[in-house]
Amino acid sequence: MKAVSRSLNFGKSVSDNGWGMFTTFLKYKLEEQGKKLVNVDRFFASSQTCSVYGYKNAKTKNLALREWDCPQCKTHHDRDVNAAVNIRNEGMRLVNALP
Ligand SMILES: [Zn+2]
Repeated sequence: MKAVSRSLNFGKSVSDNGWGMFTTFLKYKLEEQGKKLVNVDRFFASSQTCSVYGYKNAKTKNLALREWDCPQCKTHHDRDVNAAVNIRNEGMRLVNALP
């Protein structure tokens, strides 16, 4: 989250303890409803992976690259939308792996 807050310039509220407080509260509220909070690892390669077939594109490590075409499946990706889809999929994978 530190890297994300820095790159998105969220400012002090999120980078301080705000995020920790938010997730603690969210976890509590979910458990009240018999639900669980899962965490996607901060080093999960959400921006580098094609959300369609999983091709890893190291070129997307360059933050200035906002859109890219997957060399494997030819899908045109918006960097942030592709990353969001990958994070959603990884979260669902973690949820399904819960005991
Ligand atoms: Zn692809």
